[in-house]
Amino acid sequence: MPRVYLGLGSNLAEPLAQLHGALAALAALPQSQLLGRSSFYASDPLGPADQPRYVNAVAALESELTPLQLLDALQAIELNRGRERKAERWGPRTLDLDILLFGDLMLDEPRLRVPHYHMHARAFVLYPLAELAPDLRLPDGRALTDLLAACPFEGLERLPE
Ligand code: ATP
Ligand code: MG
Ligand code: MG
Repeated sequence: MPRVYLGLGSNLAEPLAQLHGALAALAALPQSQLLGRSSFYASDPLGPADQPRYVNAVAALESELTPLQLLDALQAIELNRGRERKAERWGPRTLDLDILLFGDLMLDEPRLRVPHYHMHARAFVLYPLAELAPDLRLPDGRALTDLLAACPFEGLERLPE
């Protein structure tokens, strides 16, 4: 079964509680097993600056779902937790669940690009991911350690458990 890494983020309606709720929902996904999660991190928002800071984490799972089945399930969880899709890009949201990596798969479809197109430049993705898989390589061969070296731990704060 492919090892899947998901990026979790929230900056509305008690972000930490949102992520705990999301993890419970991930643990209940069909044909899947939640393997673990990183620490939680507070992070400065991307895009519009007039919004609260985010809480982010990365989760690891194994899944027999297809990538699009998994995306459907993640979007259903987002909607269940009150996510409203707005026109503004990167605006505030109760929950964002992104597929970062799906095994070694590389996909470029209208609904799904894997690896996540911008994960290599996001501290709030790379640092939590490194907790779970320090020796990871992306499907294109890039080592996570090299991506980390090029991505300062800036605007990021690891939260105590
Ligand atoms: P970003 O993708 O820059 O993190 P975002 O997460 O806020 O921004 P969303 O509004 O959550 O963007 O998603 C927009 C669309 O991105 C979704 O409808 C989905 O079809 C598509 N998408 C493409 N690749 C992925 C992926 N790897 N994980 C989740 N959604 C993806
Ligand atoms: Mg996102
Ligand atoms: Mg998203």
